[in-house]
This record gives sequence, C-alpha cells and structure tokens, in this order.
Amino acid sequence: MDLILLGPPGAGKGTQATTIAAKYGLIQLSTGEMLRAAAAAGTEVGRQAKAIMDKGELVPDEVVIRIISERIDQPDCKGGVIFDGFPRTLAQASALDKLLRDKKRKLDAVIELRVDDTKLVERIVGRFTCAKCGAGYHDRFKRPKVRGVCDVCQGTEFTRRPDDNAETVTRRLMVYYRETAPLTGYYYCKGNLRAVDGMAAIEQVGQEIGAVLDAVK
Ligand code: ADP
Ligand code: ADP
Ligand code: ZN
Repeated sequence: MDLILLGPPGAGKGTQATTIAAKYGLIQLSTGEMLRAAAAAGTEVGRQAKAIMDKGELVPDEVVIRIISERIDQPDCKGGVIFDGFPRTLAQASALDKLLRDKKRKLDAVIELRVDDTKLVERIVGRFTCAKCGAGYHDRFKRPKVRGVCDVCQGTEFTRRPDDNAETVTRRLMVYYRETAPLTGYYYCKGNLRAVDGMAAIEQVGQEIGAVLDAVK
C-alpha cells in the first residue's frame, strides 16, 4: 500500500504518518526529514537545502525527486510507503506518477488533512521533537507524559526546528497555497483524494485515517 499525506505545514502529517507506518507496516518517507538529515551530515546537497529551508522556500523539484526515487528502491520500501511532505508541487506530483508507474507501484490513497489556517501557526510554533529518536511533541497539544522525558526513548534532550518561527511560517504557508494546494485538485480529478478532519484530537484523526485505509486496502 502506497499513500500520500497531504496538507499544509503543521497539519499533522508527520504525527499521523508515524502512527500509520507502525500500524500498517509501512515506511514513512518524509522529504523534510531526509533534507534535514542531509543538512546535518553536511553534504553539498544538504548545505544548499538548508539555506532554502531556513527561508521557508521549496528545495528544487529535481533534488527531492531524486532523493525519493533512490530511497524507494531500498528493499524495506517493498511493502508500501507513506509520502509525508512530498509531493509539494504539480511537477513533483507528475514525476511521482511516472516513478510509481515505472516501478510498478500503485498509489492507493491521497489523504488530505484539513486544518484551519489560524491553527497552523499555533501548532508549528509549539512543535518540538526528541533529539534522540525524533518523536514529535507540542507545548500544549502533545506534552511528554513525564515532563522533560521522551515517552518513546526516555531521552531528555529536545530540539526545535530553526524554520518553526512565526515569521518563516507565514512564508511557508504562502508557498503552500501557491505551490502545494493545487495538488488537492490534481488528486481529486484522479479519483484518489480522501479528506480527513485534521482539527480533531490526534487519536481521533488517526482513527479517521485508519477507516479510510481499511476501506481502500
Ligand atoms: P506536519 O508534519 O504536517 O508539519 P506535525 O505532525 O509535525 O505536522 O504537527 C505539527 C504540531 O502539531 C506538532 O507539534 C504536533 O504534536 C501537533 N499536532 C499534530 N496533530 C495535532 C492535532 N490533531 N491536534 C493538536 N496538535 C496536533
Ligand atoms: P512541514 O510539514 O512543517 O512544512 P517539512 O519537514 O515537510 O515541514 O519540510 C520542511 C522544509 O523542507 C520545507 O519548508 C522545504 O523547504 C523543504 N521540503 C520538504 N519537502 C519538500 C519537497 N517535497 N519539495 C521541496 N521542498 C521540500
Ligand atoms: Zn525519544
């Protein structure tokens, strides 16, 4: 089963992708995470990407398409993947169509997480992650059970993304509306768009997505 989680920054794609991946035995392919890993490793691609990400702009299509194409060929992706944060432009969407066709894979569903704009900034500026295992948290909406201790790995160090500040978020939202929002129309016309209410509590959104997946499986 291959799926796409679509939605603006802060909609909950990463949060839901992690849960669904574990539940359905899928591999989460987050282009944002992959680019941040490349930046941390200090590769040429990573350095260039970081400068773009810090401004809230999009990394060039060729770069992310190549990253995805190489990653999906790894044996662990055989059983199915969740694209999280990819595709983000119509050019990426059509490259993905071709890539999946060439690799004899099929897109089972495109799940759109619908969240009001006013909620997105609040979600993003309160976001933080475990430095050790990458588990995602929120200052108000998803605190660790024990203060300062990661629920998953018991790590005690947390990080915040440099691009998760109010100023860059506005830029990222504008980029989303210009470049990524048209993808809902694209997938609606192809017949595999499923909208889910992303305003509900985290567990409830997960249940709604689960219901969609059980129907398409
Ligand atoms: P995205 O990957 O779409 O940018 P995230 O999954 O990182 O979004 O979620 C953004 C922030 O909002 C995180 O801090 C996360 O804990 C929180 N969050 C995710 N889903 C919900 C939800 N349904 N209700 C409240 N907060 C949420
Ligand atoms: P969020 O879901 O909160 O917007 P991501 O982690 O998905 O954050 O992406 C962070 C940044 O990485 C984006 O603002 C962009 O600069 C870059 N990026 C991630 N995925 C893509 C993509 N598919 N195409 C272009 N740039 C991307
Ligand atoms: Zn952790």
